[in-house]
Amino acid sequence: MDVSAVTRRAVASGPVCDACLGRLVADRSFGLRNEERGRALRTTLALADDEAFEPPYEPPDVADCWVCEGLCGEFDALAERVVAELEGIEFDTYQLGSRVPPLLEENETLLREEAGLDPIDGAHGEDLGKELNREVGRRVGARTGAKVEFGRPEVQVTLDVAVGAETTVEVDINSLAVYGRYRKLRRMVPQTEWPCSACGGSGRQHGVGPCSECDGTGYRYRTSVEQEVAPTLVEAHRGREGVFHGAGREDVDALMVGTGRPFVLEVEAPHRRRTDLSTLEAEINEASDDIEVVGLRYGTHGMVEHVKELEATKTYRMVVTFDEAVTEEDLQAALDGLRGATVEQRTPNRVDHRRADLVRTRTVHDISGATTDGEHATLVVHGDGGLYVKELVSSDEGRTEPSLADLLGVDAEVTALDVMAVTGVAEPFEHPDYFLAESDAAGAGGRDPDEWTEGITADQASVVVMERAATADAIAPVEPGATAPDTDADVDGAGSDR
Ligand SMILES: [Zn+2]
Ligand SMILES: [Zn+2]
Repeated sequence: MDVSAVTRRAVASGPVCDACLGRLVADRSFGLRNEERGRALRTTLALADDEAFEPPYEPPDVADCWVCEGLCGEFDALAERVVAELEGIEFDTYQLGSRVPPLLEENETLLREEAGLDPIDGAHGEDLGKELNREVGRRVGARTGAKVEFGRPEVQVTLDVAVGAETTVEVDINSLAVYGRYRKLRRMVPQTEWPCSACGGSGRQHGVGPCSECDGTGYRYRTSVEQEVAPTLVEAHRGREGVFHGAGREDVDALMVGTGRPFVLEVEAPHRRRTDLSTLEAEINEASDDIEVVGLRYGTHGMVEHVKELEATKTYRMVVTFDEAVTEEDLQAALDGLRGATVEQRTPNRVDHRRADLVRTRTVHDISGATTDGEHATLVVHGDGGLYVKELVSSDEGRTEPSLADLLGVDAEVTALDVMAVTGVAEPFEHPDYFLAESDAAGAGGRDPDEWTEGITADQASVVVMERAATADAIAPVEPGATAPDTDADVDGAGSDR
């Protein structure tokens, strides 16, 4: 490529601004801005021709550039508008992109043709959009002190360029993730909002008067873990809304005690990204009688998938009722037979009959407990995710093998079931890769993570549940049919408890 020939032809095509001229050879002389390249090309041409530095050698007014139609003269003004749009938003990383109208792209193609150049490809030249992104982007960075992030920036700015109209500045604030564990201290509290099915969540019946099913609340239950947790976190981060993600979910009538269940509250469009989470943790816990949260920390965006997808074992505490008196000795012998056992379970009778009838194999990692009187026992079971623990006790008419009932030769039934711990199998939920480093520096997160270790032994679990029982309602009977809409929906997944 003969640079001076390119310049001569480009300049002859009509008024072209320095930046549009320089972009033709953007792949040359790394370290220059396109505007500097363009100015150098003109100067060189004027020197070669030994002509005065005036039109057509002298650059035209940018507004008169037939290629960008003046856009290259607006970098400063656009940056200022972007900074104004970002006012009141807390962010450390950003990315700036743009939509350039086809008309301007065509102009660029025409200019390259006129200059005798091949179309823009990866190795030659640069398009207007890239220049716009970089020039406005670096000005925004300089003004705000934020860093460019190409992966998942905290704010994403898009310039929507219109020909003959003002460029629109769009700002998207990416969500932030607050990780924690929750305990559910009262029964009949679902994990997430559960709209009333009678009125579709409207709270109105046939459009007139309050719904009789939900007393006009629009919800089947008076609250949920989500409703107890989300508002405080959303408000503190000045977000638009919160999305609750749990590592599986327990039945509505089950407590979640022990070390709690991992969750992520995703705050959408947060205007504030750093708060003292230990203070928020205390606020949530003081305000709620139904739940408590522990170990709030800022997670990466990847934490959402991590919490939702990580395969987990579950530890349950349950009250078992026997059909006739069982001796402590017989119970212990039966538990020995289940401890470490590989259990084969056909799809339980209680599960939707439209579901395929499969045989699943699950391991009982540990099981222990004692009789409370002859006809009752309290047991703690640690099993694979997906182990149907009610059937492990009852045998489900022989569909689960082995079972406590079969080993004892006495009918047995789970009459109360609580979840004590949800433990990641391949790695811990609280893996350091899924936390923001800043959360430590900012002193966020109420507890030492070691305090909430992944593992929990049956003995520890019993201690915790006994402590809890003093403040929460005593363990209550399982209410038939009181299961969350999708509690058993995901039979093979780690997502639901049994
Ligand atoms: Zn231009
Ligand atoms: Zn209703």
